[in-house]
Amino acid sequence: MIPPFEKPIYVTRPFLPPFEEFCRGLQDIWDSRWLTNDGPVLKRFTRDLCSFFETENICLFNNGTLALQIALQGMGISGEVITTPYTFVATTHALFWNKIRPVFVDIEPYHYTLDPDKVEAAITPWTTAILAVHVYGHPCKLNALADIARRHNLRLIYDAAHAFGVKVGGRPIGHYGDLSMFSFHSTKLFHSVEGGMLLFREAGLRGLFDYLKNFGFKNEVEVVMPGTNAKMNEVQALMGIQNLKYLGQTIEKRKAISAVYRKRLAEIPGIHMAPELPAAVQYNYAYFPVEVDEQEFGMSRDALYDKLKEWNVYTRRYFYPLICDYPCYRSIPVNGSLPVARRVAGRILTLPIYDGLALNDVETICDILLGLHQSMRMQSAQAAMPALAAVGR
Ligand SMILES: *Cc1c(COP(=O)(O)O)cnc(C)c1O
Repeated sequence: MIPPFEKPIYVTRPFLPPFEEFCRGLQDIWDSRWLTNDGPVLKRFTRDLCSFFETENICLFNNGTLALQIALQGMGISGEVITTPYTFVATTHALFWNKIRPVFVDIEPYHYTLDPDKVEAAITPWTTAILAVHVYGHPCKLNALADIARRHNLRLIYDAAHAFGVKVGGRPIGHYGDLSMFSFHSTKLFHSVEGGMLLFREAGLRGLFDYLKNFGFKNEVEVVMPGTNAKMNEVQALMGIQNLKYLGQTIEKRKAISAVYRKRLAEIPGIHMAPELPAAVQYNYAYFPVEVDEQEFGMSRDALYDKLKEWNVYTRRYFYPLICDYPCYRSIPVNGSLPVARRVAGRILTLPIYDGLALNDVETICDILLGLHQSMRMQSAQAAMPALAAVGR
C-alpha cells in the first residue's frame, strides 16, 4: 500500500524567482515611487518580451482576459465568431463582453484543438473571425485555419494563454494568425502574478490597444475613445522580467517530468496520452492531460479524480464541463452535438506538472495509478467468480 503524500500535490504550483533577487528589484521600484502607468520596469519587460518573441508588435495588460477583450474590440470584431467549446471560460467571455455571438465548433481528437474540417460548415454571412485556442500549448492546425480564414476573409485570432514559449518551425507561435493573446496568470507556465499580452501582425493596432487599456487617454487633456483600465503595473512587470530568465530551465524540468509520465503511463491500460507533437513543434510542457477510459482502466475519470485525493494528489478536469454546457451559455444554439469535445471533456484529467515537482513523486503518482488499475481488475475478476460457479466450474 502506497502511503499518501505528506503535503498536497496540486496540478501546478507557480514558479518564483529567488526572494533576494525580487527584493532587489522591488528596491528600485521603492526608490522611484513609480508603481504603474507605463513605468521603467514595464518598459524593460516589454523590451525583453520583444526580443523573446522576435517582434516589436506586443502590448502588455493586467491580465489575459482583458487583453483578449480589448483585442476583439480594437480589431472591430462583431457578429459571429467561430470558436471552441473546449477551453477556459474566459475565451468565450471575451466574445460575450463584445456582444459577439460564439459559434461552437468541435475539436480534433488528438490534441484537442479546433477542428478545421468542421469550421467551414459553421461560417455564415455574419461570421467575422475564428478564435481558436492552443489548448495545453498544443498548436492549432495553423495552416488549415489560415487557409480557411484567407478564403473567407475572416480574421484569425489565437488564444495562446497556454502557449508561452512554444515555437513552430522555429518561429514563436504568436507569429501565426492576425493576433495572439498570452496569459501571465500565476497558474500558467510563465507568469507575472497576473498579466496578459497581445502579439499582433498589424503595427497600427498598438496605438489603439494603448488607448483602450488606459481610459482612452491620448494626453493629459484628450480622451479619444471610451477605454477601460487594463494596464500592467510595475510589480507585475518585475515578476515577469525575473521569471523570464528562468523560463528555459522551468521548461526543461517539465520536459523531464513529462518523459517520466510518458514512459510509465504507456504501461497502464485505460490511461491515454495525447500523441507526441510533430517534430516541427518546440513544446512548452505546460500541461499533462490524459484521457481515462473507464472500461479499460476499471474506474471512471471522476472516480479516479476523487480517489487520488486520498493520496493527497489534486488533479484537475481541464476542460470539463464544456463552455456550451455552463448555465450562462446553455441557451446558445450549437450546430451538431460536438461529439469529440463531449467525449474528451468526460474523460480528461490533467496531472500535476510544475518545475518543483520531484521526479520521484511523479513515479509515485504513476505507481498509484497502476495500483488502482490493478486493484480494480482484481475486484472485477472476483465479482465474476460467482458467475463462473453458476456455469459449473
Ligand atoms: C488563463 C486563461 C485565460 C485568461 O487569462 P487570465 O490572465 O487569467 O485573465 C484565457 N484563456 C485561456 C485558455 C486560459 O487558460
